[in-house]
Amino acid sequence: MIALQPLADNPVGTVYLVGAGPGDPDLLTLRAARLVMNARLIVHDGLVDPAILAMAPRTCRFVSVAKQRSRHTMAQDDINALLVREALGGADVVRLKGGDPFVFGRGGEEAEACHAAGVPVQVVPGVSAALGAAAAAQIPLTHRENASIVSFVAGQCKGLSDQNWAGLAGQGRTLVIYMGLATATPITEKLIADGLSPEMPLAVIENATRPTMRVLRGQLAGLAELVEHNNVKSPALIVIGEVAARGDMMELGRMAEQVA
Ligand code: SAH
Repeated sequence: MIALQPLADNPVGTVYLVGAGPGDPDLLTLRAARLVMNARLIVHDGLVDPAILAMAPRTCRFVSVAKQRSRHTMAQDDINALLVREALGGADVVRLKGGDPFVFGRGGEEAEACHAAGVPVQVVPGVSAALGAAAAAQIPLTHRENASIVSFVAGQCKGLSDQNWAGLAGQGRTLVIYMGLATATPITEKLIADGLSPEMPLAVIENATRPTMRVLRGQLAGLAELVEHNNVKSPALIVIGEVAARGDMMELGRMAEQVA
């Protein structure tokens, strides 16, 4: 590989790894919004909402490196090389990622590649899907009566069956699974084999914080059927634990409105 060096009189740009949140532009941090509104170059994932990209100046250049399960339009090494090349060429790069850059976002790999090439990096946190989805569906991830531990896991990962999830789900705990739709059946089997009750409550939250959001509730044993029957599509999160069965607060609110 050719070592990239900055041009003599060309200052090196900064790569900003920016969390774009789960969808709703209102959930951007002020820092993220400011960076987008002043960006000259945005390198973004497929999960970044078009309404957020629309906040950029008209002159901004966009590069989509959209990744979908089993379809990578740009390999991670190529994305890293692109960020480094642009920054060494003098451009500040706004690297926009869904949710938070350091939660299942490969932000760590991009930061390392930049550091190795001498490119300065700044990381701007975003509202990760688990937090956005929980808020939008009004499912508290912790609750004094039900859960004092929360774990985030990736359902679509190398060697799912080798991953040790023992103790992450069950009484007093909430497990949030990212990218778990395609592996709903092995996930269910894995958790039941770990001793979880097939009746453990769960919720599937699709398109959280977007106008098309759906919240589906069920039990662990019925997860795959719930996903299939309702034709749930990515992006979606699975929340497993007693918190998912607490009174459906939005439903309770609607009932109260009807009574009033
Ligand atoms: N860095 C991101 C996660 C990227 S992995 C973050 O912090 O949120 C992509 C997965 O995130 C999706 O497969 C899905 O499980 C979850 N996800 C992202 N946005 C979502 C949304 N609006 N609603 C539900 N799940 C979402």
